[in-house]
Amino acid sequence: MSVTWAEVNEHTQRVWQKERIATMEARLKAAKAAKAAKRATSVPAPEMNAGNGWRVTEPPGASSHDELERLAFQVFDLAFHSIPRPKWRVRWGEITPSDLLSYALACVDPDAKVIIVDRRYTQGRADDDLIETLFHEWTHVLHVGDGHGERFQKTVASVKAFMNELKQPMEPSAARPRPALVYATKGRRYAGFGRWGAPVPGGQDLEYR
Ligand SMILES: [Zn+2]
Repeated sequence: MSVTWAEVNEHTQRVWQKERIATMEARLKAAKAAKAAKRATSVPAPEMNAGNGWRVTEPPGASSHDELERLAFQVFDLAFHSIPRPKWRVRWGEITPSDLLSYALACVDPDAKVIIVDRRYTQGRADDDLIETLFHEWTHVLHVGDGHGERFQKTVASVKAFMNELKQPMEPSAARPRPALVYATKGRRYAGFGRWGAPVPGGQDLEYR
């Protein structure tokens, strides 16, 4: 029995074909594995719980990190209602300002994307103080790198005007009648903002940054 050249050629072709398919399959497998590995490493980085001059701590008193964050989110949505809320965390912690002589009620860390509210200076402060602090920090989040510059001040002024309008008494005045539905909504938004008691004497001296 003889083997023709054509048969050898055909056999060789088949072997090559098999090899090509095997190579393609191997490449496909490798690509799939690489994709899976990338998925595995693209899970969010672990949350930072300490940074330059701050650390996350246990919450003060009966509060919780969740409660603070919920309040902070409410404040953002209320103050900057038309802007999508940046994906930042809000946590209780302790802040050590670099000059050591000042207090900081709260601070922002753009690297960790976290707002820290110092748990040591919240006891006894009024709801409005905490809300104002959170609003101040959110303004920093929106103007990272700007400090308390012109853009920061402009935002503060315009939102404060808007917030003050919301804080007006619920009864519609003769001068500015308003639909009842608006008041009902605003009332709910302000409800459940936590219990912070009365302001502490001297508490007004505290600064946030
Ligand atoms: Zn500030």
